[in-house]
Amino acid sequence: MLSNSTLNSSLPSSISPSLAERDKAVIWHPFTQMQTAPLPIPIVRAEGSVLYGADGRTYLDMISSWWVNLHGHAHPYIAERVSQQLRTLEHVIFAGFTHEPAVDLAERLLSILPANQAKVFYSDNGSTAVEVALKMAFQYWHNLGQPRRKVVALDGAYHGDTFGAMAVGGRSAFSAPFAPFLFDVDYIPAPVPGQEETVLQLAETLFTADVAAFIAEPLVQGSGGMVMYEPDVLDKLFQLARRSGSLIIADEVMTGFGRTGRLFASDYLQEKADLMCLSKGLTGGTMALGVTTCTQTIYDAFLSDDKLKTLFHGHSFTANPLACTAALASLDLTLSEETKLNLKRIGDQHTAFSQTLAQSSVVANVRQRGTLLAFNLVTEGATSYFNNIRDVAYNFLLERGILMRPLGNVLYLMPPYCTSDEQLQYAYEQVEELLKELSQ
Ligand SMILES: *Cc1c(COP(=O)(O)O)cnc(C)c1O
Repeated sequence: MLSNSTLNSSLPSSISPSLAERDKAVIWHPFTQMQTAPLPIPIVRAEGSVLYGADGRTYLDMISSWWVNLHGHAHPYIAERVSQQLRTLEHVIFAGFTHEPAVDLAERLLSILPANQAKVFYSDNGSTAVEVALKMAFQYWHNLGQPRRKVVALDGAYHGDTFGAMAVGGRSAFSAPFAPFLFDVDYIPAPVPGQEETVLQLAETLFTADVAAFIAEPLVQGSGGMVMYEPDVLDKLFQLARRSGSLIIADEVMTGFGRTGRLFASDYLQEKADLMCLSKGLTGGTMALGVTTCTQTIYDAFLSDDKLKTLFHGHSFTANPLACTAALASLDLTLSEETKLNLKRIGDQHTAFSQTLAQSSVVANVRQRGTLLAFNLVTEGATSYFNNIRDVAYNFLLERGILMRPLGNVLYLMPPYCTSDEQLQYAYEQVEELLKELSQ
């Protein structure tokens, strides 16, 4: 049988390029300046919270591989379920057809989401989940014959990298080349502690009768620098939005499935969103899948004898059975007693470590929500995403076998829920070493 390894072994090893070199010859990586980036690190396998490098080194994955992993890598239970599904039905068109994993998953999601969520629309990832929510919101008003065009969002928000998702994200250097192509959005500052009243006053003036939707990452703005705010002020913003008739979109792509200590960040709120976006942890980090859910009222606005009221949106891999099965398996694990204990345990460990962090002269604004712990590094000129403290911290920790990926001067730990106390302690110790280094 012809395999890659037999092909490679026929080359003298001295001239056979490394995997990283072959990568560099053909691949363009995300969020990466290819001219200056070091060669990528080949990973050959992973288990629990540990990534195994081709060179024998190991890395503790303290960012859950870009916030997607919940229960550890290559989880045997998820693997078994997906593998069975792969032999049964790998994919089928989702217009005019359906299958059990999609229906089971929709039923189970609706049973754990806020009670006002009534329908599930599948897509591929977090950005598409947001695109779908925005299109549902705009077309809702269109179908009612009362078009509304305005969107209100939070400064520093991140909702994905496709155009609609980018448009409602906070404007930054990342979106600058595309600014002329993004639709107009009104921004209010994130209502961080101390700023609540100012933000609410501004919000009162912005929530007018032409606002189609208000979109927010509830309680934690992820990519914007792990900015955290309280449920109480978000409830008040939701009330203001509601008063103007605006729809509300909760982007729980990052916060969903236990990350914030509760199943959803929305579970901390009294007011409930009309639309919700899920992805990342949805499949336990195994496969790409996106979900947009909505209320019955929104769904009903698309029911008509008039075909033009249809939501004309879909993706080739909508509701892929393998991804839905991975999500079902991940849900079993997420809802288990063991995960509940792990969420509490990691939360407690983070809280204890916060005390240590708060004593460092180079740390400011230590903040935590559930299994997510973040703080700012305060050294000279440390405030831009592009500053070099980010690279210093990233490399320092990586050298010590810890994968963390600072957002500018913001460092955070977002471990898979299976991470042991010993692993957490090891990660904390390396962070302490970094702080010592930086305070010299
Ligand atoms: C990551 C993220 C997205 C985009 O998800 P992708 O799967 O990367 O497209 C959207 N919203 C939030 C809050 C996110 O954290």
